[in-house]
Amino acid sequence: MSSDANTPVLPNCIRLPLAEDELLEVTAKAKDYAIMHGAAMRSKTAFSPDSLNFAPFVLVPSSFPRKEFEKAVALQPIINRLMHNVAHDEEFITTTLAETIKVDEFTANLFNIYRKVLAHGFTQKTSLGMLRSDLMLESGCPELSPRALRSAAGEDGGQDAGAAVGQGAGAAAGTGSKEEEHQEQKEHREVQLSRATKERERRATSAQSAYCCWKQVEINTIASGFGHLGPASKTIQRFVLSELGHADKLHNMPDNNALAGLCDGMVKAWDIYGKPKAVILFIIEDVSYNICDQRFHEFYIRETYPHIKVLRRTLTEVHREGKLGQSKELLLGSQEVAVIYFRAGYEPGHYHSQAEWDARYLMETSLAIKCPSIHYHLAGTKKVQQALAQPAVLERFINDPDEIKAVGKIFTGLYSLDDNEAGNATYEMALRTPERFVLKPQREGGGNNVYGVDIPDALKRMSRVERSAWILMDLIHPPLTKGYMVRPGADMPPQIVDMVSELGIFGVVIGDAEHIVHNYQAGHMLRTKLSTANEGGVAAGLGALDSPYLIDSDDDENEQK
Ligand code: ADP
Ligand code: MG
Repeated sequence: MSSDANTPVLPNCIRLPLAEDELLEVTAKAKDYAIMHGAAMRSKTAFSPDSLNFAPFVLVPSSFPRKEFEKAVALQPIINRLMHNVAHDEEFITTTLAETIKVDEFTANLFNIYRKVLAHGFTQKTSLGMLRSDLMLESGCPELSPRALRSAAGEDGGQDAGAAVGQGAGAAAGTGSKEEEHQEQKEHREVQLSRATKERERRATSAQSAYCCWKQVEINTIASGFGHLGPASKTIQRFVLSELGHADKLHNMPDNNALAGLCDGMVKAWDIYGKPKAVILFIIEDVSYNICDQRFHEFYIRETYPHIKVLRRTLTEVHREGKLGQSKELLLGSQEVAVIYFRAGYEPGHYHSQAEWDARYLMETSLAIKCPSIHYHLAGTKKVQQALAQPAVLERFINDPDEIKAVGKIFTGLYSLDDNEAGNATYEMALRTPERFVLKPQREGGGNNVYGVDIPDALKRMSRVERSAWILMDLIHPPLTKGYMVRPGADMPPQIVDMVSELGIFGVVIGDAEHIVHNYQAGHMLRTKLSTANEGGVAAGLGALDSPYLIDSDDDENEQK
């Protein structure tokens, strides 16, 4: 969807296509390998609690530039700290969401819980953040891309790259005088244009790069999935590469300890709670299709920490069974809950009635350590991400100027649609060049966004006030990879398809408003979708499990051998 005929292609880790007999054999083996190693899901079309299908996967790992991967990994603890500080900034959360909660009932319900908890004081001051920062490589950077070069040369018919960047910053900022903004835009545009010229010259003498950097798609603070499926994807592809005689390439597949990293995070929180008999509670949907990605967490905890029990309950069940003890400890029957890990509760459909909201509030007011606590949940909204991308906002949360710079670079254009001047400017811009954007509501879990040419109709159906429930974001244009996608029930052998990938980096952060006691990066996941698809949720059926194959240069012919 965000790709076109000019989209650059990353080289494959091995030469494709494979001979048909080899492809058939290795794919059949890989499917069994996937099921037997828990890279699996419950079927949506033929659901049975007694069986699993393998999860769709990409046969061989997709290339990803090592430098960018390492940058993302190194940045995660800084993003963790940023989100922790944001979550604990009452004024920032309140102001940022003020317009949104007037029209978005779901966010308003979450905010009401937050407000009530603030009024009564937090029973549990410690929060457990298990975050996932999702990102895509950008092949359309002003500095590098053919697309931006064309625009800079006025060949795209639309706004030039410099103007686009300048407009983003101005419309989004909403601070400073108009003249200052204007001057800033002009300077920005000049810098972009001179960079583009330099780049054109560089291109004449060197190979073209398929990407220039990566940009954050979103940050998840609730139910960040694939802690198991991330590492499991590597296991399948490692097996496939070895089967195909490429064991020598395995060292380019980075270690992935996401499952251990996340589960150890829960156990660290359990330790802080400090009651040996207390349990860890997973809040689950009524039906868990993505069951492996929850059970493996549970099994890891039981195997690694045999004395710790995990319970699974829906919000409805917590409403039925849960109560607070004398010190506000959360009790399910007679079992005290130390840590609550939400794998549900992030979308309106999980709250069937007031009962589920009451359950959420009960948990929020309890002594249990929540992942996420309500302020963390709110800090993960798209609206907050949009606010963080505005100039000078990061300074409120990060002290080190180098860190501010590094984090600032990961944001692509994010624009407010609040009912004010900046919001109206965004609205006009979206109507003018919708193909540049994605429109996002305050929802999680995929399938909620509006893309490109569909945006004007969607926006026109909303009142000015209703628009504040949404944000607008620049589309990221990731480079393509070519490979085989293997899906349950699909024709065999699979065909080579054009794909794009989204990398997720996990982070764990534990602390209270004053102190962070644990902060680390915790593995990664890679999801890959057909280049023609807008979204790539694996459980939703559009994406496939994948893992990164790190390359040092995107034009290295040696990688193809
Ligand atoms: P959700 O919370 O529903 O997962 P996301 O913001 O992650 O919402 O968007 C869902 C999917 O849409 C992403 O996984 C990605 O494939 C696609 N997407 C989102 N934002 C962009 C963007 N700015 N550019 C390109 N694709 C995007
Ligand atoms: Mg997402």
